[in-house]
Amino acid sequence: MKKSMRRLLAVLCAALFLLTAAACGKDTPASSPAPGTLPVIGPEGPEDSSAETKEASSSKAESVPQITETDQQPSSKEQPTEPQTTEAQTEEPTTQDAASDWTLPANVTGFRTEGTNGYVIVIDPGHQEKGNSEKEPVGPGATETKAKVSSGTASRFNGYPEYKVNMEVALKLRQILLERGYTVIMTRTGNAVNISNIERATIANDAHADAFVRLHCNGSENNTFHGIGIYYQTPNNPYNGDLHGEAKALNSCLLEHMLSATGARRDGLIESDTYSGINWCKVPAGLVEMGYMTNQEEDAKLQDQAYQQKLAVGIADGIDEFVSTRAPKN
Ligand SMILES: [Zn+2]
Repeated sequence: MKKSMRRLLAVLCAALFLLTAAACGKDTPASSPAPGTLPVIGPEGPEDSSAETKEASSSKAESVPQITETDQQPSSKEQPTEPQTTEAQTEEPTTQDAASDWTLPANVTGFRTEGTNGYVIVIDPGHQEKGNSEKEPVGPGATETKAKVSSGTASRFNGYPEYKVNMEVALKLRQILLERGYTVIMTRTGNAVNISNIERATIANDAHADAFVRLHCNGSENNTFHGIGIYYQTPNNPYNGDLHGEAKALNSCLLEHMLSATGARRDGLIESDTYSGINWCKVPAGLVEMGYMTNQEEDAKLQDQAYQQKLAVGIADGIDEFVSTRAPKN
């Protein structure tokens, strides 16, 4: 009995000792690192992950609407590939994503007047009172840059600036298009503005314009040059070569009707990939050189209200013909 009592006591003592040792040992290592590490991990973790989710959700917010919008676009049967190529453009170059996701500054919106026939035409009166020599990429993802907007040419004979002629024709064209039921957006309605060529193209892209008409006047060292020419991208344009066919169709219509409305000489359809205002377009566009301000006879016409009206009627007739075989995009 005594022996068994001693054994029991010994076992109990041993158990007590082990429990105390275990309890003491547990406290020391667990408590010291915990206060040090946990608070540090805490704030860093949540901040990082919330930042990530913000980025992820904002990039989703940007890309998802684009995809759905472009998916909705090809109600016209003729361009089933357009949304695919638009997506491919933005996805291709990793270093170019920032440039591809161009968003307009809040102060650049475009002046819009609603119409009834379903078609949206964006008119860009070229240039502005003062050029902006800051640089911007010539196309989505391009490393080559060009001035945001140049000051344009001017009459060699009385100094009248191109940006004013462009605006005068643009306002006449807007009036005609509104009378014919179009929704019309102007990239600018005043001369004292600062809107880059990318921003002008973005106004047309955001509107899903059925046509984007850029109005300009030409100039040359050779004062005998005259006539109407329209510029747009080649089929090999790395940014929007897929739009070459539509642009050519649009600009053929514009040129033919402008020539018959004015009797001007045919300077032709000229394919070029050097215009950032064309390269950034996701809609059919044409840069219309309405005449040469370095040719005395044509310069006088370009400043004449009646001739400007003829130019505007010709452009409107060309737009009518172009959209007649196409469903509205919007
Ligand atoms: Zn110009």
